[in-house]
Amino acid sequence: GNYSRKEILQLVEEEDVEFIRLQFTDMFGVIKNIAVTSRELPRVLDNRCRVDWTLITGECMENEAEMFLYPDLDTFAILPWRPQQGKVARFLCDLYCADGTPYKNSSRYILKQNLEKAGEEGYTFFADPECEFFLFHTDDNGIPTTVSHEQAGYLDVSPLDLGENARRDMVLTLEDMGVEVESSHHEKAPAQHEIDFRYGEAGRIADCVMTFKMAVRTVARRHGLHATFMPKPRSEFNGSGMHLKFSLVKDGQNIFECKETPGKISDAAFYFAGGLLAHSREMALITNPLVNSYKRLVPGYGAPTELTWTDSDQKSLVRIPFFRGQESMVELRSPDAAANPYLVLAVCLAAGMDGIRKRLVPLKAGETENPDCLPETLKEAIDIFENSSWIREILGEDFCRIYVESKKKEWLRYTRQVTDWEVEEYLYRL
Ligand code: GLU
Ligand code: MG
Ligand code: MG
Repeated sequence: GNYSRKEILQLVEEEDVEFIRLQFTDMFGVIKNIAVTSRELPRVLDNRCRVDWTLITGECMENEAEMFLYPDLDTFAILPWRPQQGKVARFLCDLYCADGTPYKNSSRYILKQNLEKAGEEGYTFFADPECEFFLFHTDDNGIPTTVSHEQAGYLDVSPLDLGENARRDMVLTLEDMGVEVESSHHEKAPAQHEIDFRYGEAGRIADCVMTFKMAVRTVARRHGLHATFMPKPRSEFNGSGMHLKFSLVKDGQNIFECKETPGKISDAAFYFAGGLLAHSREMALITNPLVNSYKRLVPGYGAPTELTWTDSDQKSLVRIPFFRGQESMVELRSPDAAANPYLVLAVCLAAGMDGIRKRLVPLKAGETENPDCLPETLKEAIDIFENSSWIREILGEDFCRIYVESKKKEWLRYTRQVTDWEVEEYLYRL
């Protein structure tokens, strides 16, 4: 680990930390926390802080009414946007039940379990996310809108790119917090931006995505803007994705590299891609969890729809980018940043490993006229998910039941709405 207990006590003292935030991610990918005063640090480090769990998922077993927060010392970070005198630091925490067992519906725990399983076979899973988001204006009351007067497009620079200062601030803040950024740019749609991570071990990357979303939204706010990871905020523009590049390391070697033929990717990489494609429909409720997620996954807006691979084609779900050698990676283009990164990485690893085990060959774009497609609605994704015993094995029976129940309610709330589109389409004519 990075820090011992003693080092944490020292850091908190030296850095004049007044508050400690104990953070965790709920099953829907939302970060939550309680703040304790630094006087309570020994209690924090003894895993004695707890939260009322009855209000978090809506369903809990007898020993789950209260959850104990076990801080992961390696995730210690000072929140750069809080006051510099009387600082605020945070830990990401693991959740434990009152009886001292890990809470098995915790998404961080689910990912850990899956990483450990791969670890037993000698594999370390690496991931490299690219997160897209919009920076919108707020109205006179401070309420976020979907409006921006920015008109910049792909890779544009100032004075067209009005987000450069906010983006600079975001990248510096992230680096301060230990999230390594590789690059950032203006994306295709007006007011749309992208920040690319440096690849890392998947468990750490999932933590980084949560830190990333919190930091980006907070920094945007300080620039008077609203940052949103909503998958498709404007129907006429591209939506925002969270493309993920993967590699698997065994005995210190990236096994996606083809040693025999430089410039080629290994069979393991192809089979991993085959596994991603084979399971992508079952995983969709995790990679694309919202009603709105499926508004992004339509043809014509750079988002994937068909279950094929290619090195460039935007319609394809999997891309095998032209990096070779130790940088050989396979990219999955369906996930959006509304997804819970812990769960996304857990199901992607399981899918890829299944591909390797069963030698599943991915279908190349153009090889058939009618390739299978991702689900078109949240409802379709729920139905497929519910019928998958594979997904229950990875995420657990209880988790899947609670998750599906909540997603069904979300779908019902949506279908009960009378939308602007309907009023516009029918009111006058009928
Ligand atoms: N924004 C597009 C998406 O929804 C992707 C654009 C890109 O290729 O970076 O996934
Ligand atoms: Mg992009
Ligand atoms: Mg990267």
